[in-house]
Amino acid sequence: MEGKMQKFSTLETWWMLRNAKSSCSWARGIWFTQATPKFAFMTWLSMLDRMSTLDRISKWNQRIDTTCALCKSAPETRNHLFFMCAYSSQIWEHIARGILCGSYTNVWSEIVSIIGDETMERKRLFCVRYAFQAVLYAVWRERNKIIHGDKLLPLTTLKRMIDKGIRNKITLMRNHGVKGMGELMQFWFLTRV
Ligand SMILES: [Zn+2]
Repeated sequence: MEGKMQKFSTLETWWMLRNAKSSCSWARGIWFTQATPKFAFMTWLSMLDRMSTLDRISKWNQRIDTTCALCKSAPETRNHLFFMCAYSSQIWEHIARGILCGSYTNVWSEIVSIIGDETMERKRLFCVRYAFQAVLYAVWRERNKIIHGDKLLPLTTLKRMIDKGIRNKITLMRNHGVKGMGELMQFWFLTRV
């Protein structure tokens, strides 16, 4: 996802999709106004199951070992990685449980229906949508690191980094005076229990 060309095409896709009238509720749950383009783009590819997960790679290379590199105990599929995996589910739970409370889930299809639920309180909906993309992006980055032979970040460091990224986003929105998002930081802190 690095490099000027990639950045350009991500942005281009972003605007294309933002401007297209989308009738699909999950698409609105991804391309929302305050989304971070590189997060939204990856989430969109995941929605279409177009990420290069090992189950998909094995369709054209059957010699490949499809075992999830993060937990090493199940085949790597989109739904496993986001967030049935024993490793990634801990990150998702840490970030999302306080936002979703009783409706907390780590099942892909249920998360997808939650981020498309526009009847939800606006601040909560923003938090769950943004957190979903931030965790998905971070998990994919860690997954790539281990596949390329690098070390994983300690879970506590990763959880702290994602939380900090979300708080930075909220600060930025506050500085830009985004409407309807006053007290968002307080709301976020209330979900950190
Ligand atoms: Zn796993």
